[in-house]
Amino acid sequence: MDLKNTLTALTGKPLDVCSNQELYLALMNLVQRRSAAHVRPAEGRKLYYISAEFLIGKLLSNNLINLGLYDEVRDVLAQAGKNLIDIEEVEPEPSLGNGGLGRLAACFLDSLATLNLPGDGIGLRYHFGLFRQSLANGVQTEQPDPWLTDHCWAERTNVTYPVMLAGQTYHARLYRLAVTGYEGRTNALNLFDLDTVDEGIVHDGIAFDKTAIDKNLTLFLYPDDSDEAGRRLRVYQQYLMVSAGAQLILAECAARGCNYHDLADYAAIQINDTHPSMVIPELIRLLEEQGIDFDEAVDIVTKTCAYTNHTILAEALEKWPRNYLETAVPQLMPIIEKLDALARTRTEDNSLAIIDADGLVHMAHMDIHFSHSTNGVAELHTEILKNTELHGFYTLYPEKFNNKTNGITFRRWLLECNPLLTAQIERQIGPGFRRDAAELEKLKAFANNPTVLQQFAAVKSQNKQALVQWLARTQGVTVDPAALFDIQSKRLHEYKRQQLNLLYLIHQYHEIKAGHLPPFKLVSIFGAKAAPAYTIAKDIIHALLTLSKVIAADPQVSPWLQVVFVENYNVTAAEKLIPACDLSEQISLASKEASGTGNMKFMLNGAVTLGTMDGANVEIYRQVGPENIYIFGQTSDQVIRRYAEKDYCAEEWYNADANIMRAIDFLTGPAMLEAGDGESLTRLRSELIHKDWFQTLPDFNAYLVRKGQALADYATDPMGWTRKCLVNTAMAGFFSSDRTIAEYNRDIWHLGQQ
Ligand SMILES: *Cc1c(COP(=O)(O)O)cnc(C)c1O
Repeated sequence: MDLKNTLTALTGKPLDVCSNQELYLALMNLVQRRSAAHVRPAEGRKLYYISAEFLIGKLLSNNLINLGLYDEVRDVLAQAGKNLIDIEEVEPEPSLGNGGLGRLAACFLDSLATLNLPGDGIGLRYHFGLFRQSLANGVQTEQPDPWLTDHCWAERTNVTYPVMLAGQTYHARLYRLAVTGYEGRTNALNLFDLDTVDEGIVHDGIAFDKTAIDKNLTLFLYPDDSDEAGRRLRVYQQYLMVSAGAQLILAECAARGCNYHDLADYAAIQINDTHPSMVIPELIRLLEEQGIDFDEAVDIVTKTCAYTNHTILAEALEKWPRNYLETAVPQLMPIIEKLDALARTRTEDNSLAIIDADGLVHMAHMDIHFSHSTNGVAELHTEILKNTELHGFYTLYPEKFNNKTNGITFRRWLLECNPLLTAQIERQIGPGFRRDAAELEKLKAFANNPTVLQQFAAVKSQNKQALVQWLARTQGVTVDPAALFDIQSKRLHEYKRQQLNLLYLIHQYHEIKAGHLPPFKLVSIFGAKAAPAYTIAKDIIHALLTLSKVIAADPQVSPWLQVVFVENYNVTAAEKLIPACDLSEQISLASKEASGTGNMKFMLNGAVTLGTMDGANVEIYRQVGPENIYIFGQTSDQVIRRYAEKDYCAEEWYNADANIMRAIDFLTGPAMLEAGDGESLTRLRSELIHKDWFQTLPDFNAYLVRKGQALADYATDPMGWTRKCLVNTAMAGFFSSDRTIAEYNRDIWHLGQQ
């Protein structure tokens, strides 16, 4: 049956009289059937990627592209007077992740399926993912963000597994979401949930009763952990995920002939950050139940599991008080104690123990001792782990440490989000880059071709027009498409330093007031959610929103400067912003951003990076060369030394530099106080002068100079600027998650082999 007839049969009426909702459901149905046809049984070793987060984003268009149906569907709908873009809008985004870590997991699933590798995800079916952000009245407030509907990408199964939490048995139900690869196989994302969870207990935004776990367990992605009830709930969530996940893994392997002694021949388990770490003792427990003795179980689990470290920020390396674990998962505590004792036989160094003298259980330590691989996510990050943060472990197990620089799927982050650039690239170098990202490098042959450069510039300009329309429609702001679009979109965190950009904008405001006019208008666009209990992050959002108002109301400044804060930054918003960006802000304090993946998305879409030598920026720099990136600021060595010597005093920098003082004091000057909230602005000013934990002030002048240089280059040499953009796209192939996954497979997983 042809596509039109198939769709008509699914909707039960002619397409032209269907609503977008009806068409969306019909298309979901079509995709689910077609992707089922690409499911292939695993042979040999199969990967289980366990992650508390999968920030998958909307699925309809992505799946249509991967199944090779997108163009045909778009055309059939157009004949019926329907627009696929409008139908996409009906789909709620599943925001089952916070940011980069969860998005990475989603990119990895796409690449696994594309590379025809057997690899499924295991996670939780949160009813509400990350909160929906509202910015009314200049402050962030949080609302639940539902995505589960009657018909849904995650399909209910009849499979349940018993999970013991605090001595009670709960039944984790498996839901399955098909993961399509580009012209590849279909894998699965396995998500667990309890039937008893009750969305009705949510009140006042995202607050809910944290004690009734049968009702609340999977309500939200990572409930707020600023109180103890929230932290305990996290432990329960993590155990639900790993216990049900481990049972699923053992059942699947047994069905394929595994006798459990040979588990490592059937399964590779990747532990994505420390949230799934309890899978190690849980698997040992389950293997012991099967009659395998402790020592052999430890050996099997070590050969099966591998661990990815995502951060060196101490607060993110989970440590659970042993009394939490004793009440939440009493069945695991004896095993964790035995693992701790075993680890202590391998080293005298107490700092490498699993259970420390304060009774804290260090999840990362358990992962490193009892898995066979520990990887960082960019070269610099892995080096920092080996040399400083995890140096003791590196000395003990040098062979376990390896680097896997992150990547992004080019299906979503180029083919789907930027069809104009995709078509332009294809005109230049043919379609091979769609499967092999390394082919993008062929674009470099056109770096000095004025006609081609003009075409690339025209694509960017059309994407900017599209963003302007989207901003008008969804954010109610008017933006001049002729301006330079400077974008910093990512989670709000002090280490990512949105506050550095804020100080720059205040500085620019003063310069314009003083008559130092720039050659063109700068539009600074932000998108960022702050963790609900992270006060200073919310203060930074408030300061940016207030500054935006102050500038907009100032007829002297507003022709030259505009600050736009996009509400509810998520994957959908990212897909609109990234193709329209001129200058990509990647300005974290060197050593703090493990890798970043936003930086790669912007680069791929032909934005030029303004960044520090941090995370994967270092590798972007190596790819494009110094003339195609703007680097500034302290190096990670300098930063690490400054922390070690504890000699950073923000106040000295504030007192010594008139520009810094002027910018910081402006926060509590009359213009800002009139437009914003004094308490919040005062707190932020004081934080910058008295703490500034992420060393904004030492990098301020370097940032000013480098950004000034970038803007001047943009103004004086448009062709040269477009050449930089083209080189960035051309050299982005390395950052395809297909490359990353091929490396994991080569060095860690060996999938399909036995
Ligand atoms: C890629 C992505 C991120 C990660 O961005 P970084 O700049 O690497 O922190 C966060 N949120 C969303 C929605 C993303 O798509």
